[in-house]
Amino acid sequence: MEKAERIIEQSRSKLLGTKEKDSKSMQREERCLPVTSENEECPYGLCDGSGLIWVPEENGGYPCKCMELRNSEKRMSFACIPREFRNIKVNDFEVEAYREAESRQIAYTAKKVAIRYIEGFQELEAMGKGLYFYSKEKGSGKTMLMIAMGNALMRKHQKRVRFATLGDLLEEIRKTFDHSSVESYSDMLEEIKDVDVLLLDDIGAERATEWVNEVFYNILNRRMTAKKITFFTSNMKIEELPYHTRTIARIDKMAMPVKFPEESIRKKISQEENEEIMKFLMAEEE
Ligand SMILES: [Zn+2]
Repeated sequence: MEKAERIIEQSRSKLLGTKEKDSKSMQREERCLPVTSENEECPYGLCDGSGLIWVPEENGGYPCKCMELRNSEKRMSFACIPREFRNIKVNDFEVEAYREAESRQIAYTAKKVAIRYIEGFQELEAMGKGLYFYSKEKGSGKTMLMIAMGNALMRKHQKRVRFATLGDLLEEIRKTFDHSSVESYSDMLEEIKDVDVLLLDDIGAERATEWVNEVFYNILNRRMTAKKITFFTSNMKIEELPYHTRTIARIDKMAMPVKFPEESIRKKISQEENEEIMKFLMAEEE
């Protein structure tokens, strides 16, 4: 069975990295495990694990080489990127993975936008402009490309990035109404409102109650005023979103729409996996 698992893993990473349904509904604590623990041994063997090198004769110190690594790991852990997407890059988004010529054309444009966006990030950040990835079809690569961009902004621009599906995020906020919870309502909300780059997955999918509208508007309004960058993915166009007009107007102002192919590459990936497994099961003994 190990071999079959390896084949699945290989074909998965060869293509795009599928999104497991479970990881979406997992609790934050499970999804956002720290990459390394604090005070872990220095990987270069230079400091005592604190990230600082102490110079007694100067009664001071300087940051160790490992400090940068520690900071980038802290950013990674804060970002809550699903495990299967942690190392994904914009270049891993394969235009050729789509079957239809039209899909490939749309995917090509989306990828180009992503690359140019990262290159021109400073100007776009000053304008407070994010991106809105949409297509009716689920599994068309929206989440993957959005996270790849978040990874690039974390690594190349040292930005604080946070990923969440809107449904999970609202659920977390709702839970913190419970007084036994350590994280208070405001802490959670402050974190989401102030993070440099927020990656909001699958908006429009949850039931848009008064409460949802209120909280979501609150988050967006604050981010818009502070010119913070927000990325969105959705199965609907901005104007079709089930929120109040003022909320939709915020999204429209904060993000440029980018069309995605109406074709699922997730389906293609599982199909190829099945073919690989079939080959494995039918193989003659050596
Ligand atoms: Zn060190």
